Amino acid sequence: MSLDGTYDDGNIFAKILRGEMPCARVFEDDHVLAFMDVFPQARGHTLVIPKRSQARNLLEEEPQNLTGLILGVQRVAKAVRAALQPEGLVITQFNGAPAGQTVFHLHVHIIPRWEGQAMGRHASGGMADMDELKRLAEQIAAKIS
Ligand code: 5GP
Repeated sequence: MSLDGTYDDGNIFAKILRGEMPCARVFEDDHVLAFMDVFPQARGHTLVIPKRSQARNLLEEEPQNLTGLILGVQRVAKAVRAALQPEGLVITQFNGAPAGQTVFHLHVHIIPRWEGQAMGRHASGGMADMDELKRLAEQIAAKIS
């Protein structure tokens, strides 16, 4: 799906937001939901999505939703750092399939990095163990401030 198109509310993140699909939930406020990526590129890979949004990508998002989104991203990133003690954090976001986007509800990736540990490839790794993801989600949630 290119940058042109319409929002499909059957996408997996819309289903998670409606409670139709499970997720390992880390954090939620009025603006964002954060949960563990099931195909993590590193231990602790977390996604932050705007809750009241029909934006497929950053370019489509209503400007008034962006502040809540980035504040949520920063808050969750700080909690990931506090919980897992990474030495670096990749915070990234893809717009359109040719750029690597595979789920078409705007989202931001928070990927912890450790020196000497390679990051997994985007959208091509194995599925994580759900119990392990829930443990990580709890660890990160405990550090939200
Ligand atoms: P994108 O490729 O659109 O930037 O990122 C989508 C992300 O969603 C990928 O990193 C992928 O691993 C993750 N993902 C795909 N399906 C699911 C799912 O059902 N649940 C969760 N929690 N993550 C998913």
